[in-house]
Amino acid sequence: MSTSILVDMRLIPLVIVAAPILLAGPDSNGSERPNILFIYTDDHSAAAVGAYGSRINRTPGMDRIAEEGMRFDNAFCTNGICAPCRAVVLTGTHSHVNGLMDNGDVFDGSQPTFPQLLRDDGYATALIGKWHLKTDPTGFDHWAVLPGQGDYYNPDFVTADGTVRDEGYVTDLVTDRSIDWLQREWDREKPFLLMCQHKAPHRSWMPGPGHLDLYEGIEIPEPATLFDDYATRASAAHDQEMEIDRHMYLHYDLKVEPTEQERAELSGPDRWIRGMRERLTPEQLAAWDAAFADRNEAFRAAGLEGRDLVRWKYQRYIKNYLRCIASVDDNVARLLDWLDAQGLAEDTIVVYSSDQGFFLGEHGWYDKRFMYEPSLRTPLLIRWPGTIAAGRTEDALVQNLDLAQTFLDVAGVPAPDRMQGSSLLPLLEGRTPDTWRESIYYEYFERGIHNVQPHRGVRTDRWKLIEYPDRGEWELFDLHEDPDEIVNLADDPVHLETRTELESELRRLQVVYGVPDGS
Ligand code: CA
Repeated sequence: MSTSILVDMRLIPLVIVAAPILLAGPDSNGSERPNILFIYTDDHSAAAVGAYGSRINRTPGMDRIAEEGMRFDNAFCTNGICAPCRAVVLTGTHSHVNGLMDNGDVFDGSQPTFPQLLRDDGYATALIGKWHLKTDPTGFDHWAVLPGQGDYYNPDFVTADGTVRDEGYVTDLVTDRSIDWLQREWDREKPFLLMCQHKAPHRSWMPGPGHLDLYEGIEIPEPATLFDDYATRASAAHDQEMEIDRHMYLHYDLKVEPTEQERAELSGPDRWIRGMRERLTPEQLAAWDAAFADRNEAFRAAGLEGRDLVRWKYQRYIKNYLRCIASVDDNVARLLDWLDAQGLAEDTIVVYSSDQGFFLGEHGWYDKRFMYEPSLRTPLLIRWPGTIAAGRTEDALVQNLDLAQTFLDVAGVPAPDRMQGSSLLPLLEGRTPDTWRESIYYEYFERGIHNVQPHRGVRTDRWKLIEYPDRGEWELFDLHEDPDEIVNLADDPVHLETRTELESELRRLQVVYGVPDGS
């Protein structure tokens, strides 16, 4: 296979270069502790990662982490929305414990976080990119974060010294700043923790200058449930406002330039298209318009309606989403190459993950939030040569809740009792405990945008039970028989025993995780 030849060729310069540079690396102070490179994206569905068998794109950079390390096949978030996921990762606690329940809450940076604990124990720590927690980062020697959601082109970075605007494309710039910190500021007497956190592929899915034409002329396969009618599902699935058909904005989301008349009448997120264009340099804007003008003209001329229009929107949306991921993938490869060139690959644990998944047209949707598989599931790829056997897969149920304790464990730093996850280190070493969890707990609180009802639930390797407490409604899915979660079995007498068992398990987990009464 060409893959193995590529891997072998990469190993050759490592052997030559690694030894002398390692003398000046983290091992020189006698520490066996690895560097930690955490690459975290925003809204990247596992269905758009080559290593997970993507039908719609290729990701050779990310796949390299899986090929040389471990792919987790059952990795899930605890609360499927941007800011809360970040708080869960930092604190190793559920949202109801760390206090960041939804995107409107402000993070309390005085609570224990794994970066602070690693820094206290001798790690050099840095955070670059999306933060989204409103307060300034704590626990980092260096930080440079995008304000709020950040911009794709020429983004501002907030630093301890003020706000600066970098010219370029955000995914490249976050990586530039990450490598720059490593090259210029990292104290090589210490192991490092670098959190490289991308905005991409978050809405509004603006591709970078190098990928504007990728996938053009290609039909991306549609999901089987693009025209789901939500029959048998609870009312929340009917009431959501995240449909490609009805809730995707033609100008802001789909990059169709408004006519003069449309421009005078912009509403909702479409109003933000002005700011999007104004931020681009004349050269960037020219490249943007050169890519989209003809396509938009063809769209106007076609006069699509009904399902044809939905199909067109899906194609426009998914191509831009995948173009954003192509930039991430290029930059993942850049970081891996940099580690190779520095002889650091052996001493660095590399983690690739996303805050939560995303709907790529499944159920007719974009966005996330629901406990359904496309948004609940995350990619999780970990490479750590010498500890993880190359090319392994792991199907134990793991969550973003586990990352803080994992990072502390690999560094030999005790985790505070309040942390609620489990270290993945035994799994990385190939000795998954018999006592590993058999169910995960999920909770979602946000009200407002996209109108998804608050809900909570439990998932085992086969079953998922979801409760919508405000409405007294339930959903039960058999993930083996119905992986697309189309048939709600909650009221099926045949499955009453399963539902009762799962309801008991849900209540048990609420006690274990200290969910307040009436939450
Ligand atoms: Ca997100």
